[in-house]
Amino acid sequence: MGEDLVQAALQILDAHTVILYAVRNSHKGMLSIPEAWAVRGGLSSIIDTDNFDHDDYALFADPMLQVCSVSPDGISADNEGAGVRLVFSVNRGTGPQAVLDAQCDGEPGEALIESIRELLSIYSEHLALLDYAELDTLTRLHNRKTFDENFDRFISIAGQANRHDSGKRSDNKAARPCWLGVLDIDKFKRINDNFGHLFGDEVLLRLAELMRKNFRASDKLFRFGGEEFVVLLRHVTPEDAHQVFERFRQAVEVYEFPQVGQVTCSMGYMQIDPSLTPAEILGRADEALYFSKDNGRNQINRYESLVENGLIAAPAATVDNQDLQADIDALFD
Ligand code: GH3
Ligand code: MG
Ligand code: MG
Repeated sequence: MGEDLVQAALQILDAHTVILYAVRNSHKGMLSIPEAWAVRGGLSSIIDTDNFDHDDYALFADPMLQVCSVSPDGISADNEGAGVRLVFSVNRGTGPQAVLDAQCDGEPGEALIESIRELLSIYSEHLALLDYAELDTLTRLHNRKTFDENFDRFISIAGQANRHDSGKRSDNKAARPCWLGVLDIDKFKRINDNFGHLFGDEVLLRLAELMRKNFRASDKLFRFGGEEFVVLLRHVTPEDAHQVFERFRQAVEVYEFPQVGQVTCSMGYMQIDPSLTPAEILGRADEALYFSKDNGRNQINRYESLVENGLIAAPAATVDNQDLQADIDALFD
């Protein structure tokens, strides 16, 4: 849809270049992340944002994008040399969701601008439908279904990182491993029982907000159901992964939840090993989470460290087919 949109806008405005940005909120403020672009002459592309460092794309670094995202008619124009730059925002009343940036030869007439507005309103409906399908209705984090549908892709990114790495420490960001963390609110049932479901829901909302603030825009955040959440971190060193999860645990611990006061959470996490199935990865992170629960709650534990230290059982050894074959051959020698 993004690619169709930039193509159509390019033709309507007879523009040189059209770029579509998604707008996201992060701990660094609003970000505009390029999604698709089209250039006069037929070139167009969907931008693969998976390996982007989204935090580098502050919306307000570009004054034109900033102006259009707050202007009531959602458009800003600027004469640049011989041409005109037009920036439109896609907004459903809850802040900008996307921005369309077009470089034109001259100022397009009002009728053409109106056509772009109609196009953007269709795109906005499309985004609303996507949100409805992919986001959890209470917290607006990604839902379990989105996790199931996208986790394979994430595992393959982790696989690429492992191939880059080949054991040595590397400054290449893409070579850093990927991580999965499972997070569960401590004694949440008691919060519901003592304060009622409405305040329980408020805790879930505030926790989701804390997650958005603490993790990067390129990290993937999911509500798995109830008071259980999953975080995927991409290309982070083991030291940083620990620090990132620990920082979040502390942010929750010190946060004053309305009426309820202090709430804590427990976590388990592991490095994503692409040779494992999604169920195995989730199962192991869950084991580390249960360990955190059984050992006093309000703590984080890494699965691999627990196994190394003999605190939880090592996973059943996978049978190495070559060894097995060698054993069988030996029987017949
Ligand atoms: P633990 O520290 O062991 O995790 O204890 P807990 O009480 O958090 O764990 P348990 O899984 O027993 O309780 C989870 C509770 O979450 C039970 C359920 O009523 C509540 N819950 C699940 N979904 C929602 C929701 O959408 N809103 C609210 N308010 N409560 C929910
Ligand atoms: Mg639970
Ligand atoms: Mg719980």
